[in-house]
Amino acid sequence: MLTSVIGYPRIGANRELKFLTERYFRGQASQGELLAGARELRLRHWRAQRQAGIDLIPTGDFSFYDGLADTAVLVGAVPARYRELGLGPLDTYFAMARGYQGPKGDVKALSMRKWFNTNYHYLVAEVPDDVGLSLSSSAPFDQYAEAAAEGIAAKPTLIGPFTFAKLARWLGRGAAERAGELAQVYAEALARFAALGAEWVQLEEPSLVMDLTAADLDLLAALYQPLLAAKGGLKVLLQTYFGDIRDCYELVRELDLDGIGLDFVEGEETLELVRAGGLKPSVTLFAGLVGGKNVWRNDYAESLATLAELAELTPNLAVSTACSLLHVPYTVAPETALTPDQRAALAFAEEKLTELDELRRLAGLADPASDPLAVANAEARARHRAGLDAAVRARAAAVTEADFTRLPARAERALSQRQALGLGLLPTTTIGSFPQTGEVKANRARFRKGEIDQAAYESRLRELTAECVAAQEAIGLDVLVHGEFERGDMVEYFGENLDGFLFTKQAWVQSYGTRCVKPPIIWGDVKRRGPITVEVIGHAQSLTDRPVKAMLTGPVTILNWSFPREDVAPAESAIQIALAIRDEVMDLEAAGVRIIQIDEAALREKLPLRRADWRGGYLDWAIPAFRLVHSGVGASTQIHTHMCYSEFEDIIGDIDAMDADVISFEAARSSHSIVPALKAAGFATAVGPGVYDIHSPRVPAVAEIEQALCSILESLPAESVWVNPDCGLKTRGPAETQASLKNLVAAARAVRAGV
Ligand code: GLN
Ligand code: ZN
Repeated sequence: MLTSVIGYPRIGANRELKFLTERYFRGQASQGELLAGARELRLRHWRAQRQAGIDLIPTGDFSFYDGLADTAVLVGAVPARYRELGLGPLDTYFAMARGYQGPKGDVKALSMRKWFNTNYHYLVAEVPDDVGLSLSSSAPFDQYAEAAAEGIAAKPTLIGPFTFAKLARWLGRGAAERAGELAQVYAEALARFAALGAEWVQLEEPSLVMDLTAADLDLLAALYQPLLAAKGGLKVLLQTYFGDIRDCYELVRELDLDGIGLDFVEGEETLELVRAGGLKPSVTLFAGLVGGKNVWRNDYAESLATLAELAELTPNLAVSTACSLLHVPYTVAPETALTPDQRAALAFAEEKLTELDELRRLAGLADPASDPLAVANAEARARHRAGLDAAVRARAAAVTEADFTRLPARAERALSQRQALGLGLLPTTTIGSFPQTGEVKANRARFRKGEIDQAAYESRLRELTAECVAAQEAIGLDVLVHGEFERGDMVEYFGENLDGFLFTKQAWVQSYGTRCVKPPIIWGDVKRRGPITVEVIGHAQSLTDRPVKAMLTGPVTILNWSFPREDVAPAESAIQIALAIRDEVMDLEAAGVRIIQIDEAALREKLPLRRADWRGGYLDWAIPAFRLVHSGVGASTQIHTHMCYSEFEDIIGDIDAMDADVISFEAARSSHSIVPALKAAGFATAVGPGVYDIHSPRVPAVAEIEQALCSILESLPAESVWVNPDCGLKTRGPAETQASLKNLVAAARAVRAGV
């Protein structure tokens, strides 16, 4: 039985690629140094896999920024605005990834989207109509050759043509019309790999796990039939992940493939599909059994049972990761602050390599369950199941339907809130954070390193908050915030103040380009230790007569941006976290806070890939979890929420059912296109569609913001509109922030005068 890895993390166990690339961006490292550093990392990653006994080690999973952007370059889909800068290939690529402003011109980056249901972002490739597609990069072949020179007969990987076709923006003629052209480029790539001596080539097709239409199936056939007809003796592995391929399984079975990779971790129906219809005897089934999104040790008993069943159904079997390991950290080794039990329960990328090898070995035994490897695995997993909190469980179990319902109804609350808050029309506010300047970060770093004590740290935080409150008053905002200077990250901060979370030192995961995140791990049952934000909000409120809006992170976002448990259903975890945040909400209200914002930045992101799983699934627990957080407050307390994306056209009713009083969301980048849809749907929550984009240092002019507001008011009544930026301001500089907010206030005043 072969072992196969779909993809490996590339940023470096110590984020070497991030730091080196950022040095290159700043002009502190040469291109030669960057290329050499990247090569060094690739070698290190291949060697780690070889040492772990992996048979099919991927090459081409490396990227300087993102794999879909690499694929665009490979097929020659580089928009003219980037080519015309006249930069070298690497800098043209970086211009696509992050924009370019300099002597050669001024262009924005390609837009970015979430990669399926992960927190990784890809660049939306654009395929210009006037450019013929052709094989235009040697990177995947060079990397294959690089591994070969190291004595590694690798399995090169490419993002497959179907997924590329589905995720790219086709300008002019669409993917269906140009399928032959695209297939031809891939056929040439296969020929190049064959000439270099490759045995297997992997084509990654996560788009096959989505809901597919008849036209999609036609496209799949139109791409793969010519491609596979040209493959010669090369073995082609069609690798799917992030779910099952129920809509195209029949078609895929009929294709002239040598390997089919299926996801048995997230693919709810995968096993059922294989049971109902086996693969051709010549085809190898790559069984994705070692999850690439979770951080827990594999359940050997379960994986071996699946492998045993599959062995009956199909003669050629390989054991594989369920998706790329890009989405997990490198290794548990440096996490010395964790307990032995905790370390034993975890498996990051390196540990997962070992799991693949062990599963292969165990699968070959007559009685695998009694082998020491299997026994050790079962023991480590059992230890993790200990440590439940009976009080938390009992409290969650006692939640009733009434706890999910806030009374009185929203319209009646709106009247109480109008009286209590005394705000005029079109109130101005921000989303919470203010610029995290070097000074803010240095204060936190000094405290973490023990250079200053808690008192000194907090006293500096109080000063920062005071400065921020004064600045907001001077700018003329109506509803103020404390600035979030105590938070490095909106999830980590709450995790640190709740029981049940583990924090790692080195467990970084790439989010996009050179940006990495270090998600906390939910280890045990979750509860609040004590008040978290009450003091800092109270301090901010003591400095001003204007209302200060408290700032919390919601349960769905805390859950979605952490590594969740496997032994507890997400619905149950969400209730536990919701109850903990609810305690904070109630304490804030008791302390006199009149406006509380509960951010659900990541609610949309984990919406299941298939519509059938939205209701009767995710939304059925995510929306109630949010309601549970705020259902206990009085009518005059105003609850806000915030979402980072405005792409919720298809779940508008569900968002309304969160029953917040006000919701702000990102809208400027998408030109407020959702606003008319809100009107059409009779959206009843008051809204603050962001009036300017905070992802750019650009200062919006007053007239520009006025225009945005007027266009919003064409669809929505002024009584239910708030005026705010798109998102938090933590990544911005202080000067541009102040200028932008001044313009925002001026625009709101001008528009108010006219309504
Ligand atoms: N309150 C948070 C902030 O302003 C919200 C961030 C977010 O939506 N990602 O930073
Ligand atoms: Zn946001």
